[in-house]
Amino acid sequence: MTKSALTALALAGLAVLPGCAEEAQEGAAPITGEVNIYSSRHYDTDLALYDDFTKQTGIKVNRIEADADALIERIQSEGEFSPADLLITVDAGRLWRAEEAGILAPVGSQVLAERLPANLRHPEGLWFGLSTRARIIIYDKAKGAPEGLANYADLADPKFKGQICMRSSSNIYNISLLSSIIAHKGAGEAEKWARGVVANFKQAPQGNDTAMIEAVAAGQCRISLVNTYYLARYAGGEAKEKAMFDKVGVIFPDQSGTGTHVNVSGAGLVKTSPNRENAVKFLEYLTSESAQRYFADGNNEYPAAIGLKANSAVEQLGTFKADTLSVATIGKGQADAVKIFDRAGWN
Ligand code: FE
Repeated sequence: MTKSALTALALAGLAVLPGCAEEAQEGAAPITGEVNIYSSRHYDTDLALYDDFTKQTGIKVNRIEADADALIERIQSEGEFSPADLLITVDAGRLWRAEEAGILAPVGSQVLAERLPANLRHPEGLWFGLSTRARIIIYDKAKGAPEGLANYADLADPKFKGQICMRSSSNIYNISLLSSIIAHKGAGEAEKWARGVVANFKQAPQGNDTAMIEAVAAGQCRISLVNTYYLARYAGGEAKEKAMFDKVGVIFPDQSGTGTHVNVSGAGLVKTSPNRENAVKFLEYLTSESAQRYFADGNNEYPAAIGLKANSAVEQLGTFKADTLSVATIGKGQADAVKIFDRAGWN
């Protein structure tokens, strides 16, 4: 990206964050090219990753951070002159929005196809899952393990009336979960489920995943749903967080069925990418073992590449069978899921 292009973007109100390796360091490859990343991830460990890539390849990493929808709009409005090479974001629903917006181009890479399981990447290579997170049931240990609660479906059982707290259905994590239920059981069953869960609400949907963990730990709600990386933050946190983690029980749903719902952080090549070759190199680099560790650890996620384990805080949550449904399918069902939530009164 030229300096003037960066300045223009900065003036447009986006955070422009040049990679750390402004100049070639000793023993590192001289700077021979660049790659421009538009990312909605904002973890400090991602910086170490970018630096390491520059040292290995001589390709400088420039990044712009904003939320996913703003980045997608930005790329659309920049059109053919967009400096963006790669879009990095979280949740298959947002990758789907990027796909729908027509801003991604397919990548055919043997390396990516070998390192990543087929269900965690787009079937035509429009995007690639780089780390995963599971949406799990948590419960208040002080009230004991809720009997008969093993699957997502059980959350709709009337015996849990007045015991469930959820975040809003406008949140993409719940939309993606419902989309997976539609894919497995059909829209009719999915709607019945949503209505059943709503009937069990203790309070109107409110707060984020972190608020759900704290409400359960405080005994304010008995049961909720959260993404694994939020809970892992408490497991690997300071004494105060650790104490909250110890009050929360974990259930990986659907272990004797289709497996627990998982979603991805992922990246796709932008259709107008001016540095396509560098972008593909960077994508491939992100699936290497060392990069996968950084990328997954930055947010306490599970590495997406085959055969790699999560960090110790994440491992404390337990091992589980993950749903192998294609995350691309989860993306496609978003609109139907939103309609069902509306009809069910899950605000
Ligand atoms: Fe999150």
